[in-house]
Amino acid sequence: MTGANAGTPETSAVAPSKSPLETPVTGSNGTACGLNRPAAIILFGSPGSGKGTQSKFLVQWLGIPQISTGDMLREHIRKSDAIGLSIQDRMRAGSLVPDELVNQLVFERIAQPDCARGFILDGYPRTPAQAQEMVRLLSARCAEEVVIHLIVDYNVIISRISGRRVCPQCGTLYNAASRPPKVEGICDLDGTALVIRDDDREEVVRERLEQYERQTRPLIEFFRATGDRLMEVDASRERPDAVFERIQSALRHVLGQDFLRQVISGQAIPGQGVPGQNGKDQVRG
Ligand code: ADP
Repeated sequence: MTGANAGTPETSAVAPSKSPLETPVTGSNGTACGLNRPAAIILFGSPGSGKGTQSKFLVQWLGIPQISTGDMLREHIRKSDAIGLSIQDRMRAGSLVPDELVNQLVFERIAQPDCARGFILDGYPRTPAQAQEMVRLLSARCAEEVVIHLIVDYNVIISRISGRRVCPQCGTLYNAASRPPKVEGICDLDGTALVIRDDDREEVVRERLEQYERQTRPLIEFFRATGDRLMEVDASRERPDAVFERIQSALRHVLGQDFLRQVISGQAIPGQGVPGQNGKDQVRG
């Protein structure tokens, strides 16, 4: 397996023909979309490509929630509920869990009020069946969607995952080389002891990468064919904050400053609260 980034520009994006603010249409469920469209930002890439890290930057910037199917599934395992018990062996082996289950979890999550202005999909879709369901869900909600493909060289992925530690309390990710905690082994934010994720063991990582190559990577062609806005971002070489700056400028270009301002301020949805706003989140630049 090799990295897919040879010759790829650092960020390339397919620009929309019109700003999202100018195009009221009808959703797949027949409802008029009007102007209150949620932003659906889909972070796509192999395990270790930085989806979780970039999601957290996007949450801070836009004030919309991250929907990580991996985190949701791990939470079920932590609680040892019926879903958790049914998936724990698969997840520990690095295999994907059934499409119907993940589709249902995402369907329920994006119906929550905090997703009204938008959401970030991290780790979904991962199979053709999930991609088709996603198109249906997003179209029914009149979402303005953008797929961000984080392209990372295979060797970089291996070294990233082997140095990865996570806070079991707040989910913050650290890396021995690129993002070490201030005190070794301890979360900067809440002082919890960091852990290695069960499925970050070497043999499991290999299985996850294989699943990605076989089932998930081909979805790029699906996104191209369905005309989704696709941003290709080289996420191998630069630090996470520099990669994020390129994502920000590409999103401004693709979605437009006005639309992003509405997402951030919540103005598009009269009467909605604006979770996570503290006055410092602005569309910069
Ligand atoms: P990574 O992207 O680094 O593999 P995730 O936290 O996204 O990490 O996923 C961890 C595991 O959770 C996957 O290996 C798989 O078992 C399960 N999983 C997460 N998202 C999905 C999904 N959309 N479909 C099926 N299984 C999933």
